[in-house]
Amino acid sequence: MFSPVHIPVGMALAHWIPGGPIPVFCAGVLSHLVLDAIPHGDAGIGHWVHSSPNHVTKLQRLLPMVLVDQILGAGVFFLLLSSPLLASTGFWTLFAGAFGSILPDYISGFRDLLTKPPSWLESIHRLHEKCHYRGKEPFNIVTGLIFQSGLVGLSVFFAFR
Ligand SMILES: [Zn+2]
Repeated sequence: MFSPVHIPVGMALAHWIPGGPIPVFCAGVLSHLVLDAIPHGDAGIGHWVHSSPNHVTKLQRLLPMVLVDQILGAGVFFLLLSSPLLASTGFWTLFAGAFGSILPDYISGFRDLLTKPPSWLESIHRLHEKCHYRGKEPFNIVTGLIFQSGLVGLSVFFAFR
């Protein structure tokens, strides 16, 4: 899933889980893997990126998407920082939740940038991939994006209710 969906979950965990940034960060990472297991329609985008004929084309497909994803993710992060729900939670705890919630995608993205990734990075990436939904995909890219936008909208709604 895209970062704007993961970030609100990581931030909500920061609000709910006691113990400060470290447990919240770990919960954020786990939440990423759990959310990825929900069908969300961006498998086609992954195929499109990975079917690139060469490394340069791959980067040309991957980087603009990462940029938009990160800008929207940062927008959601800053918006939720000002929400009444999260007002009592410290900045670094919220940041740890948000960062943990998108870390698996950073790791896989970093692996995609390398022509020959080390085996430990491959193992982490494979674990991340394994967490993705494997059944018949109920969404295409467009309906998947609508679904993911709906989830972001719901998070914002509950944070500002
Ligand atoms: Zn992921």
